Amino acid sequence: MNQLEKLTQALNSLPGLGPRQAKRLALYLITERQDIGQNLIKSLEEARDDVHYCQKCQGIFFDKADTCRICRDPDRDRSVLMLVENDLDKDSVEKTSVYRGLYFILGGSVPLTESDLKNTNLRQEQLKKRLEADSEKLQEVILGFSYTPQGEHTARVITKYLADFTNRIKITTLGRGLSVGTELEYSDADTFKHAFSNRS
Ligand SMILES: [Zn+2]
Repeated sequence: MNQLEKLTQALNSLPGLGPRQAKRLALYLITERQDIGQNLIKSLEEARDDVHYCQKCQGIFFDKADTCRICRDPDRDRSVLMLVENDLDKDSVEKTSVYRGLYFILGGSVPLTESDLKNTNLRQEQLKKRLEADSEKLQEVILGFSYTPQGEHTARVITKYLADFTNRIKITTLGRGLSVGTELEYSDADTFKHAFSNRS
């Protein structure tokens, strides 16, 4: 395999890029726009070297600290914790400015073929530790998953997993205001506001 084929194969492994598009992009980066290629290499290396995982929410951030800006913010409401699948979902919720509590990033969703969390690579154990550590202040956990079959399934499995906490912490579900099939990442501010105020 020559270098062009190697680069094409690497780009082809990205989601949403077919082999023809990958080859076109590879040629573009090494012939027409070497500057973009260089910038991409530099940005990737910098992001990889500087990324940190917040000890509280497990979200990614880039400052030199143990916890991220949101978890450090004294004005956030510490009585409520929203569980989301990934960093993109957290950012989407943040953009709406509706929610003022804290987050926990689960690291994905539960596949429909799994009925418990044992065979998944999610952060359920860190989640339990977090709930135990925050149990004095924490009153509500909001399951902020997408309103899709997998999101609904994840909510059911997590609710079961957190059964020991339900006498102390209220577990609510977001999404009743989202239309069926809505990914949290793509919901707009009004839709999210509706889903948030109608959580149950
Ligand atoms: Zn954090």
